[in-house]
Amino acid sequence: SDVRAAAGDVPVAPVAMPRVRKATEASVSCVIPALNEARSLRILLPMLIVLLHDAFACLEIIVVDDGSSDDTPEFMSEFCRRDARVRYLQLSRNFGKEAALSAGLELAMGQVVVTMDADLQHPPALIARMVAHWEQGIDMVYAVREARDDERLLKRIGTRLFYFLMKGTGKVRIQPDACDFRLLDRKVVQALCQLPERTRFMKGLYAWVGFRTQAVYYQPDERRFGASSFSLFRLIGHGLQGLTAFTTWPLRVAMFGGMLLAGLALLYGLYVVFEYLMIGNPVRGYSTLIVAQSFLAGIILISVGMVGEYVAHIYEEVKRRPLFIVSRQMGQGLVQGSPRV
Ligand code: UDP
Ligand code: MG
Repeated sequence: SDVRAAAGDVPVAPVAMPRVRKATEASVSCVIPALNEARSLRILLPMLIVLLHDAFACLEIIVVDDGSSDDTPEFMSEFCRRDARVRYLQLSRNFGKEAALSAGLELAMGQVVVTMDADLQHPPALIARMVAHWEQGIDMVYAVREARDDERLLKRIGTRLFYFLMKGTGKVRIQPDACDFRLLDRKVVQALCQLPERTRFMKGLYAWVGFRTQAVYYQPDERRFGASSFSLFRLIGHGLQGLTAFTTWPLRVAMFGGMLLAGLALLYGLYVVFEYLMIGNPVRGYSTLIVAQSFLAGIILISVGMVGEYVAHIYEEVKRRPLFIVSRQMGQGLVQGSPRV
């Protein structure tokens, strides 16, 4: 009945008639989460408008301001006033990139939705290649970074480890190195908006919804202004969140590890008794005791902490707070043809 209930909640995407997908007859929404990116947006938006205007019949560009403290609000309201194809959604504070993305996806109305970073690291020229795949019937096209030579060793090791740990589930395969530069068909957006969880680990959610997907490879450009807001510490937190949202194997590891250790301890105990009774060795081992004691304490704390991660996750979910709060919204959506000047 669980399966039935779940199936009942998620609307099955209507079986589309084999129609030809043509970008020039379709509408597109471009969703851009932005935190203090006014300088980049100034360059990115005009570029995008030209590009999308040529490729699609209708377009809208949604900039989701995730609590910027620079002059993004002024710049964007000015831009919206001049160009009706641009929409501005201001969140009431910084909710994080994942929440900002969700906000944008909820607002987007296009048949095709492109999500990308505001910081000019995602080359807009790649969109043309994504669109070509969509026209061939692919529902989700995602950009995968070709190399990570530009990143620090520690970050690269961390990412490898993360994708290795995430593989533990087997059920949902998260594409390593795929980024949030994606093209989604309306079907996919609808599915994503249906997902009720508060902790939006987008990479996992994209993988979870399925559909026909295709990777395109690219080399990210350098960040021109400002700095990445994802410090190593924040990335670790993000990774833990993804791990607890999409896997349960760490809980089992704790259990099996505990069994293994208990078994070994029992064997060693028997050996010590044997040694004392049969060989007559006095029971030694102050240092063994200390080592074993602290080792076990460490294992126990790690396990408790791991369970704690899951509990925290459950706590976040049961609070049922909204994902984000909107403080201001400008622009009205898909616009055909030339801008209103
Ligand atoms: N971003 C956001 N909210 C945040 C952090 C980042 O909306 O709390 C946006 C940011 O403006 C950018 C994108 O998410 O458009 C990617 O951020 P960043 O470049 O810092 O991440 P990285 O490229 O290092 O993964
Ligand atoms: Mg970036």
